Amino acid sequence: MSRVYNFSAGPAVLPEAVLQEAADEMLDYQGTGMSVMEMSHRSESFQQILDTAEADLRELMNIPENYKVLFLQGGASLQFAMIPMNLMKNRTADFILTGQWSKKAWKEAGKYGKANVIASSEDRTFSYIPDCSDLPVSKDADYVYICENNTIYGTKFKELPNTKGKTLVADVSSCFLSEPVDVSKYGIIYGGVQKNIGPAGVVIVIIREDLITEDVLPGTPTMMQYKTHADAGSLYNTPPAYGIYICGKVFKWLKKQGGLTAMKAYNEKKAQILYDYLDQSSMFSGTVVPEDRSLMNVPFVTGDRELDARFIREAAGAGFVNLKGHRTVGGMRASIYNAMPISGVKALTEFMQKFEEENR
Ligand SMILES: *Cc1c(COP(=O)(O)O)cnc(C)c1O
Repeated sequence: MSRVYNFSAGPAVLPEAVLQEAADEMLDYQGTGMSVMEMSHRSESFQQILDTAEADLRELMNIPENYKVLFLQGGASLQFAMIPMNLMKNRTADFILTGQWSKKAWKEAGKYGKANVIASSEDRTFSYIPDCSDLPVSKDADYVYICENNTIYGTKFKELPNTKGKTLVADVSSCFLSEPVDVSKYGIIYGGVQKNIGPAGVVIVIIREDLITEDVLPGTPTMMQYKTHADAGSLYNTPPAYGIYICGKVFKWLKKQGGLTAMKAYNEKKAQILYDYLDQSSMFSGTVVPEDRSLMNVPFVTGDRELDARFIREAAGAGFVNLKGHRTVGGMRASIYNAMPISGVKALTEFMQKFEEENR
């Protein structure tokens, strides 16, 4: 067996210890004589997996009592519709556009009401986070929406926007559990788990209880009402059971690493190695303004498309895979989520150094 250094933006690298544990339990989960995949979601064993996962996530993120944790399906993209369907009582929401994902969420919300753009960084290919200290927040806005870490462009909100008292909704798909957050500042904090937590097919929604109501837009399907899933403890229908089981293992792994404060320190150290290298390189450069750089997704270019292509090819040959950047940015992107070890980032920068010397 040989594992590569996987820099994919998602689905992405998972902790090897978690994969090994899942492999060990594949045929017989804790004496049940079956795999978690084969288990009734109404069984005691699965209920325990779900309860433990929620309890560990609550502990990791210090989630207040008045928030519900929902394990749902449909990916982050289904939330682009579910959020307005449940929250747009005045049919108005404000959006800060910092990349493709917030733009998609904004477009989808526009199907249900007035979706206003109150700030955007599209003028410079989303390479920075706009100043959000004094935005023209709409008086009747049901919520203000952000994508907190921009997976494609490699920017991150270092400070939350001033929503002037309006509910903040944040897509944290690509920075979920990468550092501590103050959940009480959000109405909804949600993300697909396939970037930093687990296998594709699970989306976690952390939602303040007062936002869970029967008063949703007319025609909202039962499956798309937060209340349906909150009332049923994420068991209204068959949940993505195996995915939740893996997420639960990742939560345990994170606790073992020291929790989110320790993860933040580790992620900062890891990202610093790559950014320091990029800042002194005469071949490679980062595409994001330094103050808004993400700890999770690091886009960079050589400025020469052919050289970029050669680098990606040779890197893959050396065991550094999925380094191709998003088509709208070009160049390269290294996603260095929680499970990417520091040794992987060190090895990558050494490879870049060697490539730079050979191609001067
Ligand atoms: C990947 C990603 C999405 C889309 O997730 P799906 O689960 O594929 O719908 C949305 N937002 C962000 C920030 C992402 O990184």
